[in-house]
Amino acid sequence: LIEIDGVVKRYGDFEVLKGIDLAVEAHQVVCLIGPSGCGKSTLLRCINGLETIAAGEIRLHGDRVTGPGVDLNALRRDVGIVFQGYNLFPHMSVLENVILAPMQVLGQRRAEAEEKAMTLLKRIGLDHKAKEYPDRLSGGQQQRVAIVRTLAMGPMVLLLDEITSALDPELVSEVLNIVRDLAADGMTMMLATHEMGFAREVADKVCFLHAGLVHEEGPPEQIFGDPHDDRTRAFLKRII
Ligand code: ATP
Ligand code: MG
Repeated sequence: LIEIDGVVKRYGDFEVLKGIDLAVEAHQVVCLIGPSGCGKSTLLRCINGLETIAAGEIRLHGDRVTGPGVDLNALRRDVGIVFQGYNLFPHMSVLENVILAPMQVLGQRRAEAEEKAMTLLKRIGLDHKAKEYPDRLSGGQQQRVAIVRTLAMGPMVLLLDEITSALDPELVSEVLNIVRDLAADGMTMMLATHEMGFAREVADKVCFLHAGLVHEEGPPEQIFGDPHDDRTRAFLKRII
């Protein structure tokens, strides 16, 4: 579903991504792991068209989504992204946050958008919070609403960037449960995460990035149980 071919990204003289090759199949969950600054967030942002790349190509469903002539609005409908800091609009209720883009971008009527939003909120057990403002919700609840807001656009792929790292440990599991549910439903996802236990459990493929290169990729049992690359081994030794 996603093909990443030789992607290079530079900030000035600094080459953040040095030729990334990676493929994500439909319904697959791919976890990006690696030390801080290795380029996980940058790679996710490139897939969503939030960054332009210096070389290489990214294809979604066979269509090129990098370089000139790309319809960024269409790309961002197909590829949803959720960041670590949830970023809900504070002056809007939970429901208003969720229906905003479906109404403005997809042209859904309010009744239709609200019905879909309530179905999604119910699914994450937050339909009773629909009229609340974000500051009345816990961090975990806010992050779940942020995921629902992205799902309301009906994306083909979901990119999740450290969605649990701003949360207290006891709130992490409620967010991870949603990801687990979505994975069971067959949603294609790419996650950048520092939660190795979670990556091990939910990923079909784990991809270890170091200094802008994919050093190793494979099923979680192999990456965590029998890493072949020295850098992967050193990284895992430090953090597990
Ligand atoms: P973390 O695990 O800490 O989230 P990461 O793997 O997501 O790290 P990135 O955020 O992708 O890392 O950053 C990769 C490198 O690119 C870092 O060295 C960072 O300082 C640099 N970088 C990121 N954004 C910019 C920017 N807008 N301008 C210049 N350098 C940047
Ligand atoms: Mg990051």
